[in-house]
Parts: sequence; C-alpha cells; structure tokens
Amino acid sequence: MKVAVLAVQGAFIEHEKALERLGVETVELRKAEDVEKDFDGLVLPGGESTVQTHLLKELCMLESLKKKIEEGIPVLATCAGLILLAQNVSNDEKRCFSTLPVTVKRNAYGRQLGSFYYEGEIEGIGRFPMEFIRAPYIESVGDGVKVLAEVEGKIVGVSFRNQIAFSFHPELTGNDAIHKKLVEMIQSR
Ligand code: GLN
Repeated sequence: MKVAVLAVQGAFIEHEKALERLGVETVELRKAEDVEKDFDGLVLPGGESTVQTHLLKELCMLESLKKKIEEGIPVLATCAGLILLAQNVSNDEKRCFSTLPVTVKRNAYGRQLGSFYYEGEIEGIGRFPMEFIRAPYIESVGDGVKVLAEVEGKIVGVSFRNQIAFSFHPELTGNDAIHKKLVEMIQSR
C-alpha cells in the first residue's frame, strides 16, 4: 500500500511520519508527473488553502488529482485540505477540487481563538485530541455527507463517499487513529 501526500506547501511531513508509524509507504506529490505514480490513497495537509490552490493550478496538478478523487481514491483532508475539497467556501470565492458537498468558513474562529486544543468525540473513532490552527469549520453539509465530529455546535469532521475531512490537525498529536481510518478505507476499497 502506498499513500500520496500533497507536498506543495504546509504540514505534509507530519502526515508522512504518521503513515510511516503505521507501516505505510508514502510518496510526495510535488509536480504534475508525481500524480501519474502508483498510489492507493491521498492526504491533503493543512497549510494555506489559497497558496495550495494557486500552486496546484500553476503546477498543472489540479485536474489530474480531482479526477482521481472523483474516481474514488480514498482521501484524508485536514484543515486547509478540507477547504480544497469543499464545494463552497462562504468567505472566499476561490474553489479548488470542489468534490465535497459542504460549505466551509475559512479562519472561522477569528483572531482570538486562532489556535486552540479540544478533546472531542469522533464517530467511529472515539475521543480524539484536536489541535485547531486558524481552522475552518463546516457551516452546512449536502446530501450524503455524514457528520463525524462537532465542537460546540460547529461541524469539524465529515465523511462523504471516499473522502474524510477534518478542521483540525490529527498529524500533530501523535494519535494515529484517523490515519488508520484512511488505511482501512484503502483496504476495503
Ligand atoms: N487558515 C488556513 C486557510 O484558510 C488553514 C489553516 C490550516 O491549515 N492550519 O487556508
């Protein structure tokens, strides 16, 4: 099994480490040719969604990756990655993959609550340490989207077909349960 990690910007190395702890081989996606490599799953890391969207277009990776997502490759997206997947962003007109029928709000917790920690419940996983960094939250979900986690009434985790996405950074906590979930999605595909 091989999992590709989008590595144009952001916190991708931590995701690679988490996957390696689970014994999964990783491959970094940095340029158009990398998308042609053989891989069974995809991680979209946190970082800056505007920068990532710009680079994906610039490096001609957006359409080929979108096709893979639409064809059903299992995807784990965190923070900025969630924004890349979202069909709607209420406070930004830019769109990236648009494969996840949710409306997200960028930097939704404002300045004072820019970064915070919360231990919450994730459906199918249990209690999980959630590290939020200038995080988005999900304002509404479309048909077929399952809500997996909420923090104080705001949706922070969802699944839809082959995509799971979270507002926070599971790769920073040393708890690999969410990455394990991705591995299970790949195994059962
Ligand atoms: N604030 C970032 C954005 O809007 C996301 C932050 C993150 O990924 N930690 O793209």
